[in-house]
This record gives sequence, structure tokens and C-alpha cells, in this order.
Amino acid sequence: MKKLISIVVPVYNEQENIQAVYTRISAAMSGSTYEILFVNDGSTDMTGGIIEDIVAQDKKVKYIEFSRNFSKEMAVTAGIQVSRGDAIVTLDADLQHPPELLPEFIACWEQGAEMVIGVRDIDVHESFVKRVGSRIFYKIINVIGDIEFVPRSTDFRLIDRRVADEFNKFTERNRITRGILDWVGFKKKHVIFRVAERSRGTSSYSNRKLFKLALSAVISHSTFPLRIIGYLGAFITFFSAVLGLFIIVEDILLGDPFGLNISGTAMIAVLILFLIGVVIMWLGLIAFYMLNIQREVMNRPMYVIHHTRNVQKF
Ligand code: UDP
Ligand code: MG
Repeated sequence: MKKLISIVVPVYNEQENIQAVYTRISAAMSGSTYEILFVNDGSTDMTGGIIEDIVAQDKKVKYIEFSRNFSKEMAVTAGIQVSRGDAIVTLDADLQHPPELLPEFIACWEQGAEMVIGVRDIDVHESFVKRVGSRIFYKIINVIGDIEFVPRSTDFRLIDRRVADEFNKFTERNRITRGILDWVGFKKKHVIFRVAERSRGTSSYSNRKLFKLALSAVISHSTFPLRIIGYLGAFITFFSAVLGLFIIVEDILLGDPFGLNISGTAMIAVLILFLIGVVIMWLGLIAFYMLNIQREVMNRPMYVIHHTRNVQKF
């Protein structure tokens, strides 16, 4: 039996691109057994209507519409959860991920790769801020993170059914799809491609939004100040410990050779400073763990579906 390929496309206000992305995917996939799953992430333009028209004519096209904008990460998550394919490809709707590469991705998969990752070629047109920002992001996340992120890897990916099944077991809310997919492992293959200019419309990710996304991947927005507090506590602890050691050695052990005449009050002040430092440092640490727990305990649904078309699983 021929293998089924699911192509998941998250869409948010992409009215000018839908028809083109549909046509190009269909052309690239002709001859294969496939389904295209559009996940409409609460678009406010004509996107939904255009897809519904396509659905009416093409049984291979499936459709999910969120009740509001939940973010691309949630749209991709929903798409992977309802896909039935033996392999699932995620692809942006703005044609920055050329559908013509689909056969190459599928060939890699047929040769045994369980995950095929599109890696961006060096792009000379990329803005300075984006280039430096992305380099710093990968530096930091590879130092403090627990998995290796391949620089310039994108969301243009093919995953095997087995990877998708593992992905679907994840319940964490604050998610970066790429991060989870890198975490689950499996045999990977990279396909280098040239990112096309965004076909129409504007990117929903401004530098500011990208920075926010990066920050949430690294430390998450709200824990940053708490970490600063933790570091401040660590600094106070270290500073007063050095001061305390100096007092012990200079005054108590050596009998004040510098003639500093350190008062008892000063000694107590240093001791108190030290203890306060320890407390602040640990408060920062505890707050950080608590935030993680709170986020998981809240257990909100990851998305709410407005309606679906041709989808059996809901
Ligand atoms: N997208 C989405 N929800 C959002 C923002 C974007 O589903 O809140 C989709 C968008 O329609 C596109 C893909 O995610 O298919 C990538 O978005 P975009 O091109 O704006 O991001 P960039 O290419 O700048 O990273
Ligand atoms: Mg884009």
C-alpha cells in the first residue's frame, strides 16, 4: 500500500498566499498519496473562506479553524495531532519553504531518516539584527539548554509517524515545536535550502516578536527578573563571604596587622549581609521552580477548535 504523507500548513492572515501554496504543494505531490491540512490560527482576513472553497473541491484538503489566534506553535501542534500520515511535513504558508523540495524530503525519509530538517542557507539579505540575534540565541541555548539546537534549522520539517506519536505525548503548554522535536531524538537528516522572500503580506514575526519568542525559549519572559534577583543574591553572598573571610584572617587569626580596628558592629553587618544574600539567592531559585510548576498545574487546553472539515479525530 502506498504511504500517506500529511502536509500541515499553519495559516494566519495569509489570504494572498493560500491559493499559490495549495497549487504548488499539489503539483509537487502529484503521483503521491497525500493530504494537506490547513490550520487556520484565527485569521481575521479572507483566509478561512478561501480554504473552505478549496476544501469543497478537493477531498485531499482538510481544515481546522481555531476560535482565535493561538500562535503558530499551537497551530502546528494541532495539525500534527490530527494528521494520519505515515510521514508529516510542516511548512509555512508564505512560500518561504519551497513546496518543490517536498520530493527531496520524502526521498530522505524513504531512505531511512526519521526526521528531515530544512536548514536555512546563509542569507545575505537578512537584517543585521536578525543575524546577530539568531547567533546569540543559539550560543546561549546551546550552553544552558539540555539539547543541541542546530543553528539555522527551521520549522520546515518532515517527521515520521513514530516521531509524531512521541510528539503527541507532550503536554507542556509553553512549547516551541522545534525544541520538542529536537528533544525526542530519532535519526535526523538535514536538507539545506534557500529561504525565499515572503511571497505576499507581512511576516507576523517582527524583530520584537522574534526576540520575545527567543526569550521564551531560553528563560521564559517572567522568570528573567527572578533570575536577576537570584544572581543579585549570589553576588551579595559572594561579596560578603570574601569580606567575612578577610575579617577572620586579618583580625582574628593574624591580630590586625593592618591596624584596621574593625568594630564588632561591622563584623555583624557582614555576617547579616551574607545571610541575606543566601536568602535572596535561594528565593530566586525557588521562585523559578514554582513558576514552572504553576505553568504545568494550570493545565489549560492548548487550543480551542472552532470547527473542522474532513477530520475524523475530533
Ligand atoms: N502563523 C500562525 N500563527 C501566528 C503567526 C504566524 O499560524 O500567530 C503562520 C503563518 O501564517 C505562516 C507561518 O506561521 O504560515 C510563519 O509565519 P511568518 O511568515 O509570519 O513568520 P516568519 O517567516 O517571519 O518566521
Ligand atoms: Mg515567513
